[in-house]
Amino acid sequence: MGRQFFVGGNFKMNGNIKSIKDIVKNINDAKLDSNVEVVIAPPALYLLLTREHLRQGIEVAAQNIFDKPNGAFTGEISADQLKDSGITWTILGHSERRVILQEDDSFVASKTKAAIDAGLSVILCCGESLEQREKGETVSVVTKQLKAVADKVKDWTKIVVAYEPIWAIGTGKVATTEQAQEVHAAIREWLKKEVSSEAAEKTRILYGGSVTEKNSAELAKQADIDGFLVGGASLKPAFVDIINSQQ
Ligand code: PEP
Repeated sequence: MGRQFFVGGNFKMNGNIKSIKDIVKNINDAKLDSNVEVVIAPPALYLLLTREHLRQGIEVAAQNIFDKPNGAFTGEISADQLKDSGITWTILGHSERRVILQEDDSFVASKTKAAIDAGLSVILCCGESLEQREKGETVSVVTKQLKAVADKVKDWTKIVVAYEPIWAIGTGKVATTEQAQEVHAAIREWLKKEVSSEAAEKTRILYGGSVTEKNSAELAKQADIDGFLVGGASLKPAFVDIINSQQ
């Protein structure tokens, strides 16, 4: 069985009640490829509003969680609380959190374990900086990020990996189809060796980094690209065209 194409929208810290309702309406009214799994991640404050207005069949993701179920952790949200509120996914390990908020591989792995243990699904982000790419370290950086998770989580059935080169995020500088496919194939090979053949075969590997309706169709043709994690373009009506990029 093939891997179901997946498109995630990461709104980051953008939007307000009106604009998020407009985005949701645009998605609800659109004719979407029924073969594509779609998940959108608004800021935490708007998760419930989004869930309330979004049509069934499309899931909502948090952009982050904390790795404890409850307690004295001011400002944090747990996987259990999301589950309780009907939020079924979370993004973890986004490079903006790794770089700006200094989350390390081990913390991202603990949070991934907490999410999986609570029954959430996870969009697990990984990716290299421009400096690391230029030094030829791309695959070693990405597999080190993933290994931290594999050390703590054995069951990868609820994990979708998002390969997001940092130099391509929000820069308008998209990886070439060859660059993306090469890293995706290396991730799949790594999954086969370090997790299982089944995980390698079944895990969706998304590309993220300046995906738009103009470049998505070409990227989607690559053998190991199973979808996208979309930032800026997920706030625009053309997000629908990215979802439908295989049509
Ligand atoms: C992202 O934030 O995950 C992302 C890929 O952003 P953008 O599409 O804006 O580059």
